[in-house]
Amino acid sequence: MTTDYLCIILYMVSCVFFIMGIKKLGKADTARKGNLFSSIGMAIAVISVLISQDVLGGGWLAYLLIIVAVAIGAVIGAIWSKKVQMTGMPELVALFNGFGGLSSLLVALSQYIAGVTQDSFTAVTLGLTIAIGAVAFTGSVVAWGKLSGKMFKGQIRLPGKNIINGILCGIGLAGIVAYAIDYNGTIGFIGIIVTTVTFLVLGFTLVITIGGGDMPVIISFLNALSGLAAAFAGFPIGNTVLIVSGCLVGTSGLILTLIMCKAMNRTFYSLLFKSFGAKKSSAAAGEHKEPKSMSVEDAYLVLEAAKNVVIVPGYGMAVAQAQHAVKELCDKLEDNGSEVNFAIHPVAGRMPGHMNVLLAEANVPYEMLKTSDDMNPQMDNVDVAIVIGANDVVNPSAVDDESSPLYGMPIVEAFRARTVFVLKRGKGTGFSGIENPLFTNDNTVMIYGDAKQTVSSIVSEFDS
Ligand code: NDP
Repeated sequence: MTTDYLCIILYMVSCVFFIMGIKKLGKADTARKGNLFSSIGMAIAVISVLISQDVLGGGWLAYLLIIVAVAIGAVIGAIWSKKVQMTGMPELVALFNGFGGLSSLLVALSQYIAGVTQDSFTAVTLGLTIAIGAVAFTGSVVAWGKLSGKMFKGQIRLPGKNIINGILCGIGLAGIVAYAIDYNGTIGFIGIIVTTVTFLVLGFTLVITIGGGDMPVIISFLNALSGLAAAFAGFPIGNTVLIVSGCLVGTSGLILTLIMCKAMNRTFYSLLFKSFGAKKSSAAAGEHKEPKSMSVEDAYLVLEAAKNVVIVPGYGMAVAQAQHAVKELCDKLEDNGSEVNFAIHPVAGRMPGHMNVLLAEANVPYEMLKTSDDMNPQMDNVDVAIVIGANDVVNPSAVDDESSPLYGMPIVEAFRARTVFVLKRGKGTGFSGIENPLFTNDNTVMIYGDAKQTVSSIVSEFDS
């Protein structure tokens, strides 16, 4: 009994740490502290579970199983995290969401097998844990495949997608009702099987049709689902801290999803129920124009005369690991008397804040990192916009081509600058696979090559 009271107190303390951690994660300068607070909260939560009656009652075998499970997870996690490149982080995050959903699903199934359900309320929460955990798992695996380019590449059409998803959802929910009515019987058993299978399939059919440009939003939605699954899992196993922390992850994930929908000018409804990218844009179908290109030496001469420069980073900067070279270029331009700013699109790269993290690592001052909303009104007065490995986030079709799948998505309006330099390796499309008419605009010149090499060469021109 005493340890139970101690556990309740520790649970409350860890919840307070979680809430403080999330609050501090909201600002860049307190984010590290936020991470620390959340980690302390998690450590307290783990200790309280280890001293709870449930685990103590299991004796040494319970502790042995926990140690083995933690050791396996820690070894795989450590090796994987060490191996992953910065550009591979979003896929890893997608998989983490999926494993979160899977673990809630497995907890719920083990509780079903153990026969702990004594009332319909617990049965419903157990069913919802299975449903949401299953969608988060298969949905995240598909998101991982799309992001890594290993599976389900591009826009996949699923005729009658909403009807199929509606039917799957209806059958799965009927399975939960069957289980809630007959949680100790055969009908309940069939209900659990039906719910598990249909929601596993639903996660797949829901995410498979979502196009490249919308992946960031769906990842944050899957993150919210994995939190909600954990929250529901807290009911059948009677764990308050899981309910609270799951709710925190779920709600913050949902808030992020809505913020990102706004950043991409999508409604949450249209993201899930409408297909994008099905139509061919007129830019892609129109007359074929060749982009102009320029040497690094000529680019230097233009930059030397520029008074106002805006740098637009994108995923290619992360691939090339060009952030340190970009910082050097920034210093050279400032020493030469230019005003330099960065215009950062909210979904540039492959995860929210991707560009900010890389540029902060290279010690680019925080005040220079402006949003597209800050920089777009000034773009007509910019002498040179240097687009470094960005593509979709500067695609003007989003502004002027109603037939484009990107139409309506806010972009960095680099095309309005007097001169636009685009640094990329070749003529490849961006993540969405959509052609970019910016490259053939009269005021655009391409500087082909790896972004890091190109930027370093321009820096060398300033030195010579
Ligand atoms: P894009 O993926 O649109 O374009 C990146 C460009 O970088 C490519 O066209 C590629 O062209 C170029 N590139 C790649 N490697 C190098 C290199 N070594 N040197 C120079 N250039 C290189 O990137 P954006 O940042 O513009 O847009 C992000 C896209 O990803 C958006 O569609 C967004 O919705 C999506 N997304 C964003 C997420 C987020 O949370 N931020 C998550 C998932 C997707 P080339 O091959 O010719 O070099």
